[in-house]
Amino acid sequence: MKYDLIVVGGGPGGSTAAREAAAGGARVLLLDKAAFPRDKPCGGGVNLRSARLLPFDLSPVVERVITGVHFSHRTRRPFTRRYPGVLTYMTQRARLDAFLVEQAIAAGVELREREPVRAIETNGAVTVRARAGTYTAPLVIGADGANGVTARLAGMPAPRDLAVAIEGNIRFPGGVPELWRETLALDLGDIPGGYGWLFPKGDHVNVGVGGWKYLTGSFRPKLDALTRAYGLDPAAITDLRGHHLPVRRPGAPVTHGRLLLAGDAAGLVDPLSGEGIYAAIASGQMAARHALAAMDSPTLDLTGYARELERVLGPELADSSALQDIFNLMPPVYVELLRRSPQLWHWLCRIIRGDETYSTLMRRAGPFALLINSASWLSRNSPLLGRRTGHPAWFGR
Ligand SMILES: Cc1cc2nc3c(=O)[nH]c(=O)nc-3n(C[C@H](O)[C@H](O)[C@H](O)COP(=O)(O)OP(=O)(O)OC[C@H]3O[C@@H](n4cnc5c(N)ncnc54)[C@H](O)[C@@H]3O)c2cc1C
Repeated sequence: MKYDLIVVGGGPGGSTAAREAAAGGARVLLLDKAAFPRDKPCGGGVNLRSARLLPFDLSPVVERVITGVHFSHRTRRPFTRRYPGVLTYMTQRARLDAFLVEQAIAAGVELREREPVRAIETNGAVTVRARAGTYTAPLVIGADGANGVTARLAGMPAPRDLAVAIEGNIRFPGGVPELWRETLALDLGDIPGGYGWLFPKGDHVNVGVGGWKYLTGSFRPKLDALTRAYGLDPAAITDLRGHHLPVRRPGAPVTHGRLLLAGDAAGLVDPLSGEGIYAAIASGQMAARHALAAMDSPTLDLTGYARELERVLGPELADSSALQDIFNLMPPVYVELLRRSPQLWHWLCRIIRGDETYSTLMRRAGPFALLINSASWLSRNSPLLGRRTGHPAWFGR
């Protein structure tokens, strides 16, 4: 069988790219090392912005609709803020990803599971060698996640793995406590470069902490303390696992010859929130569009993909990173403002919902944006501020 496109990895980035390319008329092969449904370390928070990108309804796999956030600072002085509508959705990755792959198959994608890719050779077309078979196509989209192989096999630099998160589940056979049915929890200020969370699902809650990678050793005790602060027993945590949050260096390549990278493989995780599902879907869509266009042109030029990614997601990632630096400078001030300022809560809700982006917010900030960017620059370049924020630039990268 001849394919127009091979997509490696069936997470949100790969399944979206495969589905959209097939819907555009391409013969698409989707390879994944796992068999669906498969789980993936993730909080399973899907914001409205991500859901809005998809041409179908996610309700079959939405387990909770969140309308409030329970905040705390280092597990202390908690308070809850409510929004008069939907803030975000909660799902389980095993269900979400299997659902997205089903949509891809319905669009005509051929799926091969338990088929880890082991080598990629470009010789005119691209030859992809996997466990059980060898496949050829003019183009490949690498969407194989944070620990994927496509970028490395193609000789591209890996994205920065500065941050890591761990998560696990606590089950409630009798039902999730009332308190958490429509409310998620965020604990801020305890781990530089990240935060702690509780995300409610159908019959369990997901608890986790994330932050700079060099702090990983402190994550388990912090997760236990957080769990206790939420009135839960850390001994009840099951399925505990961790994973990288790859963050792209500005300008890092996302194409190489006939290969396009999407999602975590391209390092598109939002530095401030740690979310990556939105960027995986958005970049999957872009990659599919540019792959389809390249198939129809004699030059197979993929530079448009890099340009669009840089234009659409680049400023968002840069602004998120600057806001993360600001937050790390003074978490208690930020949490106190959230407690007291309806205005700040309003803007945060607009960001969570996707009604606003970091970039539109920075534009609204006017001259303050300059201040934010200057403080961000200083926290990376001044030992005094860098040490205060715990930025990895000053702690062994
Ligand atoms: C603890 C944690 C919590 C998170 N919580 C959230 C959250 O609540 N909301 C959010 O938006 N983001 C969250 N993220 C980030 C989010 O999980 C990722 O950004 C997202 O999964 C990226 O999607 P992807 O399609 O690029 O890659 P993935 O979802 O990682 O999918 C990659 C796929 O490639 C396959 N694969 C890997 N190697 C190979 C190979 N060699 N051959 C074939 N297939 C291969 C894998 O089996 C997998 O199916 C979290 C991350 C972590 C670590």
